[in-house]
Amino acid sequence: MSTSFALADLLTSGSWQEDAACRDADPELFFSNDETDREQALSYCAACPVRVECLEHALATREAYGIWGGTDETERKRLLRRRRRAA
Ligand code: SF4
Repeated sequence: MSTSFALADLLTSGSWQEDAACRDADPELFFSNDETDREQALSYCAACPVRVECLEHALATREAYGIWGGTDETERKRLLRRRRRAA
């Protein structure tokens, strides 16, 4: 499975994805284990006008890999746990 292709597909599918700051970025940055790549991906997210929408999508679909909405896998797991406890 290549998750980076999934991101590329998602980012051409319309709605909020059309405003994504990472639209023309290398998707590999968002799924790399290299810390420099991940920091670069997060810098796109920091300036992204659809960060909240992206994060909510990743949480709703339980995206297990990559940088989404300015979060990594561990941060999303933490957010989901916190939401479950608050529900
Ligand atoms: S928040 Fe990050 S991953 Fe999501 S669309 Fe924006 S730049 Fe891309």
